[in-house]
Amino acid sequence: MSGPAAALRAAVAESTAQNPFRCYQCGNCSAGCPMSGHGDLLPHQVFRLLQLESDRPLHAMQPWLCVGCQTCAVRCPQELDLSRVMDYLRAEQIRRGTVPPEAKRMAAFNRLFLERVLAGGRLSEVELGIYLNLANRNPLENALAVPGLMARGKFKLPGKPIRGPGRAVARGRRPS
Ligand code: SF4
Ligand code: SF4
Repeated sequence: MSGPAAALRAAVAESTAQNPFRCYQCGNCSAGCPMSGHGDLLPHQVFRLLQLESDRPLHAMQPWLCVGCQTCAVRCPQELDLSRVMDYLRAEQIRRGTVPPEAKRMAAFNRLFLERVLAGGRLSEVELGIYLNLANRNPLENALAVPGLMARGKFKLPGKPIRGPGRAVARGRRPS
């Protein structure tokens, strides 16, 4: 078989080293996953859909709910690690522009988090919150929490950027 969905299955296998065909659908992963039943797919269904050459995982919300706890990997008799597949699917949804509407805010957070770290070498929670509110077109979201945060000393203005993060990133290294 060939086609975009078969290509997706092959890409998942190559990029994550998790071969969907090794899954025999015992359901152990879904039975232990803390996010089972909170989204649109059960974890083991992701592998099943890939086996069946469906591209539904590319449009699903479930990858965005995965918290990377690896309970599925510990329980799997085939030693499959679904969290790696979920990571791949999130990245692929962003790349292809297929992020489901319910996950747009999470995708925006993901993008802004990385952008701010790459720009300054460190993350300011205040700065991230402002950028996030602007991206979500809701500039006053959580504004009522600010006085409480200030009273507890948790509202810290952005510090100086770390010198040279751009150069470190360009060399393929983490900013130090
Ligand atoms: S535990 Fe492993 S073999 Fe069983 S359904 Fe989940 S991924 Fe497939
Ligand atoms: S790593 Fe993700 S898919 Fe696996 S059990 Fe945890 S939340 Fe569920």
